[in-house]
Amino acid sequence: MSEIKTIGLLTSGGDAPGMNAAVRAVTRAAIYNGLKVKAIYRGYKGLITGEIIEFKTQNVSNIIQQGGTILKTARCAEFRTVEGRKQAYETLIREEIDALVVIGGDGTLTGARIFASEHNFPIVGLPGTIDNDIFGTDSTIGYDTALNTIIEAVDKIRDTASSHERLFFIEVMGRDAGFLALNGALASGAEAAIIPEIATEVDQLEDLIKNGFRKSKNSSIVLVAESELTGGAMHYADRVKNEYPEYDVRVVILGHIQRGGSPTAYDRILASRLGAAAVESLIDGQRNILLGIDDDQIVSVPFSKAIKNDKPIDPELLKVLKVLSI
Ligand code: ATP
Repeated sequence: MSEIKTIGLLTSGGDAPGMNAAVRAVTRAAIYNGLKVKAIYRGYKGLITGEIIEFKTQNVSNIIQQGGTILKTARCAEFRTVEGRKQAYETLIREEIDALVVIGGDGTLTGARIFASEHNFPIVGLPGTIDNDIFGTDSTIGYDTALNTIIEAVDKIRDTASSHERLFFIEVMGRDAGFLALNGALASGAEAAIIPEIATEVDQLEDLIKNGFRKSKNSSIVLVAESELTGGAMHYADRVKNEYPEYDVRVVILGHIQRGGSPTAYDRILASRLGAAAVESLIDGQRNILLGIDDDQIVSVPFSKAIKNDKPIDPELLKVLKVLSI
């Protein structure tokens, strides 16, 4: 039998659409199972400073459709220190919180893993990031919404690109992961995606030119992942200006619009399923795991595995993009 009576809940790192749906699901599932929920504001920062209130079912009414996170989020340097994490632990003891559900990206889960092993504290992590860069889950909460925001923006840019017969480099988020760029390119019919996963192996611009890039078209769109490994959209635009001055080049950096907006049905359902499963896992005595989705089934992955491994890009996607961009 579980000894967990009170679950603490926080969102951390970059906000992602669907985090609220997950907050709602954890809260309601916990209360349904007779547990108390304590909402921790501003991620690990609020855990250290004790910014905590008990949530009832009505605290999460009318939020499933809202982007961002009602719990707020923060980057917290103190949590990277032993002393900061000790203070966080003292808060949990004081607040009589028996287990934590943390919703966030790679950094958040790394912090959770370190904290859990240092203080022997039960934690379940949910993947909440638009980057989709977490090993062990097909999709992260927020990724589908961000992808849809990207294709909506690219559709609009395409109108002006084709009217002026221009080459556009559109920079999308994703840090060192190319999922948004690659799948965004596929879904918007872009000519190519420049992604960090292969940035050090091939000169992707040379590849584009070699493949007859723009020969049969009056405009071109290339999605570039924001990573330092690719150099970003400006880097490629400068290169084209210098090396291929015949092209009329423009750059668009999509920026933070990719983070906002009402979550898609997919993200709402994913967040709801993962949130409910997080509570059930804790009741079942599981701890220090990430919950994800694999082949439409909820799966659990030990923190150590989820964090240590990089999630690979499927080469089939790269191939399809190349084939369809002739
Ligand atoms: P996103 O990928 O959307 O940006 P994220 O969760 O990866 O989200 P980070 O800023 O990397 O965002 O991490 C969030 C917080 O997690 C950090 O501000 C810090 O408090 C904590 N954290 C990250 N890495 C560590 C670490 N190595 N040790 C302890 N805590 C960490």
